[in-house]
Amino acid sequence: QQPFLSVKDLKVHFSTEDGIVKAVDGLSFDLVKGQTLGIVGESGSGKSVTNLTILGLHDPARTQIDGEILLDGRELLTASEREMEKLRGNKMSMIFQDALASLSPYHTIGTQIAETYRKHTGVSKREARARAIEMLRRVGIPQPDVRVDDYPHQFSGGMRQRAMIAMALVCDPELLVADEPTTALDVTVQAQIMDLLKDLQQEFGTAIIFITHDLGVIADIADDVLVMYGGRCVERGTKKQVLGAPRHPYTLGLLNSMPSLDGPVDVPLSPIPGSPPSLLNPPTGCRFHPRCAFAEKVPGGRCSSERPLLDVVEGRGSACHLELSQRDELFADYAATG
Ligand code: SF4
Ligand code: MG
Repeated sequence: QQPFLSVKDLKVHFSTEDGIVKAVDGLSFDLVKGQTLGIVGESGSGKSVTNLTILGLHDPARTQIDGEILLDGRELLTASEREMEKLRGNKMSMIFQDALASLSPYHTIGTQIAETYRKHTGVSKREARARAIEMLRRVGIPQPDVRVDDYPHQFSGGMRQRAMIAMALVCDPELLVADEPTTALDVTVQAQIMDLLKDLQQEFGTAIIFITHDLGVIADIADDVLVMYGGRCVERGTKKQVLGAPRHPYTLGLLNSMPSLDGPVDVPLSPIPGSPPSLLNPPTGCRFHPRCAFAEKVPGGRCSSERPLLDVVEGRGSACHLELSQRDELFADYAATG
């Protein structure tokens, strides 16, 4: 199947008062329709920046962007702001952690959904209102024909998140970017929203990019997984490959710091020591080397001097100087000793 979205060697660099921030430094991936790509990483790993770039939401005067982003065969990086406006909300759309940031407090929920629909389809106000009610019903808002006239503040947090999803999906986008959309919600509502997204994906065949720092969420929703660290992809593969048999020490660290859903609750988690790298002055060589438990296993100090390249074979890849056979052994020991 032809990829619906194809990102090739994407680089996003910002000019700041302190210098150039290399927020994304050479990222490539493909996504086909109906599939979910999970992008996981700590804050500042470049995952959100990547997606804002796909959506064309950066200030061009302060951002240097290189590479290619093809959406359904169309190059987005050279598209005009007008073209991007047309695509956003229509062919591609987004949901965020904070629904209040994407919903206006001054207009009813129904008006906002209806206006998004009208903007891209040109239908009458009456038709758009009917569509808004239909979308609210689909995302599970009770009494949608009444609640359609509520303002965002009259909705609970979970309902606002649903309303935002309704607005994002009102034009049947083929690509949905979801950036930590459930992080602020309690566990029960979070599970409901995840189920809703899965159902809607089934129904509409949407391609989804799901950005999160939470591997539990990835385990729940992703088909393929891309692990980002310091603006680069350090590991990728199917969910089963990445979560079941991680190849990068950073992924291993993330897995070890994740509470197991069915395991005993009193096992201490082992968060990865240290903090994410500065993107103004990233570490040389492997960007993970200051935090990596295995760096001394690689001879010649290569971890701090030489950048490990992402070796991708049939979608499976990792960027680490350790031999693959060596990793199997080391990782098994690490898991055993914690
Ligand atoms: Fe660790 Fe070296 Fe592999 Fe980087 S290249 S993840 S520092 S072992
Ligand atoms: Mg983010």
